[in-house]
Amino acid sequence: MEERLETEVCVIGGGPSGAALALRLARLGHAVCLVERHAFPRPHVGESLTPGVWPLLDALGVGEMVRQAGFLPAREALVRWEDATGRRVRAPAREPGVLVDRGRFDALLLGAAASAGVKVLQPAVARRPERKADGWELRVLHEGRWVLVSARFLADASGRASCLGGRKVPVSTRTLALYGYWRGEIPHGPETRVEAGPDAWYWGAHLPDGTFNAMAFVDPESLRERGIGRRTLEPFYRELLGRSGLLGAWTAPRLVSGALACDATCYRDAEPIGEDFIKVGEASFSLDPLSSSGVQKALQTALSGAVAVHTLLVRPGSADAALRFYTDDQRYSVEQHAAWAAGYYREQHGYEERPFWKRRALPSPPTLAPPEVRPVAGDELQHRRWRLASEASLVDTPCIVGDVIEVRRALSHPRLARPVAYVDGVELAPLVEAMCEGLTMPQLADTWARQVPFRQGVALLGWFYRQGLLSEAAASDPP
Ligand SMILES: Cc1cc2nc3c(=O)[nH]c(=O)nc-3n(C[C@H](O)[C@H](O)[C@H](O)COP(=O)(O)OP(=O)(O)OC[C@H]3O[C@@H](n4cnc5c(N)ncnc54)[C@H](O)[C@@H]3O)c2cc1C
Repeated sequence: MEERLETEVCVIGGGPSGAALALRLARLGHAVCLVERHAFPRPHVGESLTPGVWPLLDALGVGEMVRQAGFLPAREALVRWEDATGRRVRAPAREPGVLVDRGRFDALLLGAAASAGVKVLQPAVARRPERKADGWELRVLHEGRWVLVSARFLADASGRASCLGGRKVPVSTRTLALYGYWRGEIPHGPETRVEAGPDAWYWGAHLPDGTFNAMAFVDPESLRERGIGRRTLEPFYRELLGRSGLLGAWTAPRLVSGALACDATCYRDAEPIGEDFIKVGEASFSLDPLSSSGVQKALQTALSGAVAVHTLLVRPGSADAALRFYTDDQRYSVEQHAAWAAGYYREQHGYEERPFWKRRALPSPPTLAPPEVRPVAGDELQHRRWRLASEASLVDTPCIVGDVIEVRRALSHPRLARPVAYVDGVELAPLVEAMCEGLTMPQLADTWARQVPFRQGVALLGWFYRQGLLSEAAASDPP
């Protein structure tokens, strides 16, 4: 007989986004069941984590555990991009990024979710969920037995498999990653390597288990044109790597994994959230691996997604704000990242006329130039008289307030990528409303005395100035 399992939230996928979402929701008091196809540890690409993961892992309460796990600090990268000489890029001294074994890293996160009370079904394959009158039903094959899971809310964290389906809008040129794990005598240091080639770009890094992951990102057409199939993939991959300096002067490098391939095209899901479902991590959107920030973004979507889901479940009256918040957040992240990636591809010189690079180094959509912050002496800045820039206004914007999404008045201006409600934890709307025209910075900070201490007020005015949100008051403006 089929086993039945009822839960409030069912999360499909136990990668970083699924584990983080489940963990946060369990801590917020929800009954959560998570379904993961593979027994962990299992191999997964995405081993280089940016320093930005640390605050997120700390927020989840797993930072220390990951620091103690014996992964490798990513202190330095050798980047051969702008030209063949290459430059060394050092990570921020305080806390560099980290090179992880994704099998172990994902297992740590999922273990933390289980400890927080999440019911984990693993290894267990979720079939396509079906919408019912009061939620969702999905059949799960768990250790050879079928389980019928009923859930009020469904979270798709199944990565590129995207268990819930939905329209995926391509955001980049189609890209294929060819990769493999190598062992051998290593002549060069432990640095990560990034390199541009005529028809590919390359990435290589040493991993905690002593292997070296060497990746080549190519146009899928380049394989089609040469009739490359499963059998001929490895010679093709070796040939590509031979054109790079990744394995350089290695003596007898051994490819221990065989040649592997996966899609690395960027996309966004057209509907990342609804009143009874959410898509997090790569089920919602994927980033160009060039930035190595996929896992960071997966964790971010899980943390902000958990607040959106919690709002939908406990404050249905704020559902519109929750949906708008999460949808805007996804669109903003995708646009920002696509513009950044195109700019980075444009910085590559040497092969810019090759189709591979032309397809990627697209012009960015026009944006307002950053404000020209003139080198004005601090004293002079303090004595000039200011007013809020004329195009600045306050608009209603959904924001995270504690554990829920609420609508707040936020400062909007064409120079700001999106409306800003808080800076350093201070709500801007009351400050903007209290702003008088034609005052000096110390006078303005004085008028905010009820909201913030004087020094913080001056620091916030510095932020307004740098963002181009202050204009000099005309001599005729009232003081
Ligand atoms: C070539 C390449 C290189 C990359 N390099 C980097 C990098 O260096 N650094 C970085 O930060 N990011 C990198 N990324 C991105 C990174 O891998 C992803 O952003 C990250 O893994 C997304 O996490 P996730 O939890 O959303 O999905 P995943 O990590 O893919 O997890 C999804 C989970 O869902 C499970 N699942 C799927 N379907 C089902 C089902 N039907 N039932 C049950 N379980 C299911 C899978 O088994 C899997 O464990 C790279 C991506 C690519 C393609």
